[in-house]
Amino acid sequence: MTRVATPGDDVRVAFVGAGPGEADLITLRGAARLQVADVVLFDSLADPALRQLAPNARWLDVGKRGFTGVAHAPRGGGRENTGQDTINALLVKHAQSGVRVVRLKGGDPSVFGRLEEELEALAAAGIECEVVPGVTAALAAAAATQRPLTRRGAGRSVALTTAMTKTGELVAGRHADTESFYMAGKQLAALSRRLVTAGWPAQTPALVVSRAGWPDQIASEHVVATLGDATVLHSGRPTVVTVGVGAVAVEAAPLVVTDDHALPATPAAATPEPATAAPARATTPTP
Ligand code: SAH
Repeated sequence: MTRVATPGDDVRVAFVGAGPGEADLITLRGAARLQVADVVLFDSLADPALRQLAPNARWLDVGKRGFTGVAHAPRGGGRENTGQDTINALLVKHAQSGVRVVRLKGGDPSVFGRLEEELEALAAAGIECEVVPGVTAALAAAAATQRPLTRRGAGRSVALTTAMTKTGELVAGRHADTESFYMAGKQLAALSRRLVTAGWPAQTPALVVSRAGWPDQIASEHVVATLGDATVLHSGRPTVVTVGVGAVAVEAAPLVVTDDHALPATPAAATPEPATAAPARATTPTP
């Protein structure tokens, strides 16, 4: 069995979740790992302000978008795979040189972060590592809009789903009461159609949040059938789409006292939405 490093071990590589947006959404443990890092391999989504936590480290941008430091020919999978191979090789190279490496990933490293490939590369080289979790985009979107992903009684399950397959095809299913779709921002109209085909009723609430966790985050509410309306508003920004129970606004409700707990009155989410299309509503944070 592979030994998994525990916090406090002197591991040479720490995968750290940077969180979805502003630097202070990183965990204290993630910040501590940055403080002792010699080399930081980071993705373009991470807040540049995180550099202040490791001012003396070498910061290497390996974000797929900006990353063209390709040292070898594609291995059949095209440019993106080559980028991943190069990141794997860089991780191993720096760790083997004896320095402390942080691999900083946007959100949580375990969610759509290609962590498995990097873990495998390190394991193959016999290098121990640690994974420090972070706040993933779906959670940041829920926090930004104060729309809990789970609801007592009505929302018992949450799915994190990428709408994009490995080959760039858009797919959607229906797996949970609340489903958060990553990587579909550029194809919201197509996602809308796929969701209906997958069995989501056309009037199911859908929430679109871009740059969640940043000061310029934008949220707009729709229904599955009108998701395409969000395209222009969120264009060019990292976007997560929450569909189902967790997309419903919580009404301000008086506290009601039950036998043993003080609980909010049943939120709107606990009762199914009527089959009327909610108008799109965009919200931005108040200054
Ligand atoms: N590991 C990351 C996800 C990386 S995949 C995480 O846990 O959040 C990249 C996708 O994540 C983007 O296409 C977008 O769908 C989503 N995403 C990342 N940051 C986001 C943000 N601040 N707001 C909304 N969506 C975001």
